[in-house]
Amino acid sequence: MSVVGIDFGNLQSVIAVARNRGIDVICNEVSNRATPSLVSFGPKQRFIGESAKTQEVSNFKNTVSSLKRLAGRTFQDQEVQEVEKQYINAELVDVHGQVGVKVNYLGEQQTFSNVQLIAMYLTKLKETTAHELNAPVSDCVITVPGWFTDIQRRAILDASVIAGLNCLRLVNDLTATALGYGITKTDLPEDKPKNVVFCDIGHSSYSVSVVSFVKGQLTVRGTAYDRHFGGRNFDQVIVERLAAEFKEKYKIDVFSNNKALFRLRTAAEKCKKVLSANPQSPVNIESIMDDKDVATIVNRTDFEEWATETLVRVEEPLKAALEASGLTLEDIDSVEVVGGSTRVPAIKNAISKFFGKEVSTTLNQDEAVARGAALQCAMLSPVFKVREFRVHDVLHYPIKMTWAATPEEEETEIVVFDKNNSIPSTKILTFHRREPFDLEAYYAYPEELPAGVNPWVGRYTIKNVEPVNGEAAQIKVKARLNIHGVVSVDAAYTVEEKIEEVEEKQSSPKEGEEAKAPVTKKVKKLVKKADLPVVTGTTSLSRPVLEEFHEKESAMYAADKLVHDTEEKKNALEEYVYEMRGKLEGGAYSEYIDPSIKEKFISELNTMEDWLYDEGEDATKSVYVAKLDELKKTGTPVAERYRESEERPRAARYLTQAI
Ligand code: ATP
Ligand code: MG
Repeated sequence: MSVVGIDFGNLQSVIAVARNRGIDVICNEVSNRATPSLVSFGPKQRFIGESAKTQEVSNFKNTVSSLKRLAGRTFQDQEVQEVEKQYINAELVDVHGQVGVKVNYLGEQQTFSNVQLIAMYLTKLKETTAHELNAPVSDCVITVPGWFTDIQRRAILDASVIAGLNCLRLVNDLTATALGYGITKTDLPEDKPKNVVFCDIGHSSYSVSVVSFVKGQLTVRGTAYDRHFGGRNFDQVIVERLAAEFKEKYKIDVFSNNKALFRLRTAAEKCKKVLSANPQSPVNIESIMDDKDVATIVNRTDFEEWATETLVRVEEPLKAALEASGLTLEDIDSVEVVGGSTRVPAIKNAISKFFGKEVSTTLNQDEAVARGAALQCAMLSPVFKVREFRVHDVLHYPIKMTWAATPEEEETEIVVFDKNNSIPSTKILTFHRREPFDLEAYYAYPEELPAGVNPWVGRYTIKNVEPVNGEAAQIKVKARLNIHGVVSVDAAYTVEEKIEEVEEKQSSPKEGEEAKAPVTKKVKKLVKKADLPVVTGTTSLSRPVLEEFHEKESAMYAADKLVHDTEEKKNALEEYVYEMRGKLEGGAYSEYIDPSIKEKFISELNTMEDWLYDEGEDATKSVYVAKLDELKKTGTPVAERYRESEERPRAARYLTQAI
């Protein structure tokens, strides 16, 4: 059984696995350690990850990016409409109340929801991992930003079910990072904690977490986020400046042409990266639009000046996280940065300046999150033994429960899980009711949430409630913030007061005293009487829908695999034709075949080549296999004779030596 951690990033994702000797990052099919978070649809198949990236410009409208930003969102969502839409080339649509895409796939218009798209991508990551490990993959830990709400987390969990993954935990990305950091440190203090600030600035989002470490455990003390701050904002700064420059210089309006804008954005990202290590970067885009080539040079100082307004935003989350942690600047022992955008010198400097100390890059900036997730998976999986390390994570947005007023109780709501409540945790709520009732969970302060995200978390109907001796029954409800940071009501039950006789504790007799006779007293005790059924409604997909999507995904996966295998067989046939013909026509095989057969065989090979370019362009896998087998009937004996004659002198040499 494999143990896998996935850092599901907005731009790219990293997979790490735990092995006996440690944590390794998995390379994908083109040997990259990160895989583009993209899904692309074609006339015959889907392209996911690297292959989607190579299609991104040519298959523009059918390629979907920003999968993570779409998780759990609706089409009408303000942030989807105002922010995400501009970064996504495919057409966004409403799919059964969820945001999804409309794409041309297999020659027809099809729609897929965000959960399905994420499932496609996770399936690809699963395949990449299984291929590398040469073993099936199921158990995993997936990271999400700490600001992901219940509905967003459920979307990722549903997607992992559809992908056939068993997600043991959705873990906040900086908590995973902190775990990876803490478990390797052998010098953590026993008492006075070591306080470390972790900052992750990725492509779209910025997270800060203040974590206290003592030997064998970590406690997240405060978190803060800027949900709309990352590398793409800096790319946008360059895009806007260069678009203005090109308008003036070349009389083109890049914003009027989506493809041109996309190409400029890609060039801007590249330029930004070059500027992290160089004072200057050229930008050249051939035939960007109206058959015009554009070229310019950007200086780092220009870039930093253009980005001034964006750069000031680095400070706020640092301040907020520190405040939430209750610590002061002096309490902070070190500041660790991860995420691609912390490579921008101006960003790094801003963080450094705030804390008045150099930032550390003890951790691998691109891989720390995935490595931490793999470690977390190892800790949760029965197959591994990992050093004991306790992780105390916290909730970011408070969650309340509401109910209808009753004559006995005026209150109709309570914050059950407050900010910084531990993840996971359980709370018992008490009610007095004569009949079944509903509880509803909501985020307590919807205005804090990502704009447009549904603050509703779930509805729980407590059934089979009846009066007891004419009185309201006393009911306990067990609300849980589970290991994924998702809310549930695990159980409800009635309790009743029982009078019990208990022995009172006596002070032990002094020397010379006789032991006192035991005294009993009556106490009231609450005991569980009966379990009550709870009917839960949440934003997760229902079982049948999950199963339907899983089947659909499996069918699409099988179809892609067939296209891939067919292509492989076709290539094998094509290669055989070329290789055999080359070797027959004056090459190595020419002496090992009867001249009359040779001529016939070459003509057969030529016919096959013609067929491959004509009607054989699009044949089925079995046809290619059959054709190759047919050619081999003539070709294999020739190749055999050649091989034998090659080996003969070698064998003779060996015999001579042996004698
Ligand atoms: P998110 O965490 O927002 O979901 P992600 O995990 O995909 O996104 P990362 O891989 O951490 O993001 O970082 C990608 C970002 O880092 C991109 O914007 C990329 O341009 C930027 N980046 C990568 N290398 C450099 C560099 N050398 N200089 C500047 N920026 C860089
Ligand atoms: Mg990231």
